[in-house]
Amino acid sequence: MKNKILFFSPFFITFLLVSSAGWSLEPSFSSAPSTSTESSKLTEGAEAPQMLLTTEGDSHSPKVSGETAPSYHKYSSVHVDGPYIAMTFDDGPSPTLTPHLLDILKEKGVKATFFVIGQNVVHSPEIVARASAEGHEIGNHSWSHPMLTKLSEEHLQEEVQKTSDAIAEATGKKPTLLRPPYGAINQRIGKMIEEKDGLTIILWSVDPLDWKSPGANVVAQRLIAGTKPGSITLSHDIKPGTIQAIPEVIDAFKAKGYKFVTVSELIALESKAPASAAQSTKTK
Ligand SMILES: [Zn+2]
Repeated sequence: MKNKILFFSPFFITFLLVSSAGWSLEPSFSSAPSTSTESSKLTEGAEAPQMLLTTEGDSHSPKVSGETAPSYHKYSSVHVDGPYIAMTFDDGPSPTLTPHLLDILKEKGVKATFFVIGQNVVHSPEIVARASAEGHEIGNHSWSHPMLTKLSEEHLQEEVQKTSDAIAEATGKKPTLLRPPYGAINQRIGKMIEEKDGLTIILWSVDPLDWKSPGANVVAQRLIAGTKPGSITLSHDIKPGTIQAIPEVIDAFKAKGYKFVTVSELIALESKAPASAAQSTKTK
């Protein structure tokens, strides 16, 4: 299986080192508006390998670094007037699970957003092409899933640009969104990614912690309970329990009257009315 290959690959060893270094230090989150109720949830789950090294991964409180208002755009949810939500899936494509998820989304008539890892894109470009052709949005999730805040500018640009290029190669479209691995972002790189790479930073407002494999029912209940209009949900299309949960989640969302849009569509629907602090975390 792919995980085993990853596990023994030199890349994976590097991943372990980078990941463990990342977790041993405090992530330097930017001082997003402290009014955001989502700010305490900025701990994107890692893929399974990370579970080998640590039992943590519970929500870390973001460290407010004393930065003033961020000078770049960053969304963890969007203030909208209608019942719109954006479901997002990270860390794929998985050669086996992502096609299954695409089948479910197609059957249910749901559009979603995939934040893909560049090196997985070049392994399975046809899956990314299919997702794009079926109306889903493809966003950049870096080449190898490092904590971007720990990288040199040169290394950061390589992670971002190679991935955008791989997505463009597979789909014919350049991505416009980036989700930083672990939600780790700060003013310096947020601004750089927006200005140099033309990518808007997307976080999330609902985190079922599915990377811990709590079981499909738990994943489903967390997603259903946490979502409200304007939510951006996080989950991982490399986790079997997540794929298993999705049909029930979609049915529950439909029963509540939610309409499914991509993240870019959700942002385009942003209400001009004053945002409630809990719903909009647009930072500029
Ligand atoms: Zn990720």
